[in-house]
Amino acid sequence: MKFALIDGEKREAERGINGVCLGCGQLMRPVCGAIRVRHWRHKVDCDCDHWWENETEWHREWKGYFPSEWQEVRHKDYATGEWHIADVKTDRGYVLEFQHSFLKSEERKARNDFYGENLVWVVDGTKRKKDRSSFDAALKETKQMIPNTSIVKLSAFVGDCPLLRDWSDCNVPVFFDFGSDVPLWCLMPKTAKKSQYIFPYLRQNFISLHNGLLNGKCFSDFNTLLFSKIFAHENPELVVAAKHSQIQSKQPPIVRRQIMVPRLSLRDLNYLVRPPRRQFKKYRK
Ligand SMILES: [Zn+2]
Repeated sequence: MKFALIDGEKREAERGINGVCLGCGQLMRPVCGAIRVRHWRHKVDCDCDHWWENETEWHREWKGYFPSEWQEVRHKDYATGEWHIADVKTDRGYVLEFQHSFLKSEERKARNDFYGENLVWVVDGTKRKKDRSSFDAALKETKQMIPNTSIVKLSAFVGDCPLLRDWSDCNVPVFFDFGSDVPLWCLMPKTAKKSQYIFPYLRQNFISLHNGLLNGKCFSDFNTLLFSKIFAHENPELVVAAKHSQIQSKQPPIVRRQIMVPRLSLRDLNYLVRPPRRQFKKYRK
């Protein structure tokens, strides 16, 4: 782990000092070798968090984008007593899980169930050699985009892309990280019509959003906007009905209540995929 407790304070591993695990409370010793990233290891084998994976530079880089008090947070379900250590838990309650290694579907389901709707996955798309090429091929195959947006509807061809196939069973957004030269790709949960959509997301914007540094906008606002655009695309008749009944009556119609009304506009959504410099310039006006 990156952190251990020393006199109740979260500290990174340093030679010559011992700490206490912030998950299980057992003693930990620092490992400060040249090969692996500096970390803490339990002094004796114990039943700590069995979901924990050995950390790579990739994990550390991602965690480092967030305040240290948000990193490695013990998250307990008080109803069952089960606990796990979240990679990052933001001040808005989102749990960001950075997944580098392959995860069996039952393990993924267990984590989805444990963290619920506040979970956000960030998956290392560079771990397996062919993931990026099969993902690019799946994108190429997919021609359908929601008009005026960068939201792409995935075709049935997805079955040939292991990454998309593996992660398509999540009911929370999954972000694929294919390296710093390309945007993150956000895979949205399956819709009621069993379709799936993906959306490019600039890494810097993802980080700024969670850190509350994108002009007061927050991650949930963008999620709501994405869901509403997709919903409207799949259910144009309901949107027309909603607009019509809005004109007919001052009372909020039932259909309207089913459509999430975003606090953001389409312009905000499209700025998510643009470089921050331009975006901030625009917002400053
Ligand atoms: Zn432990």
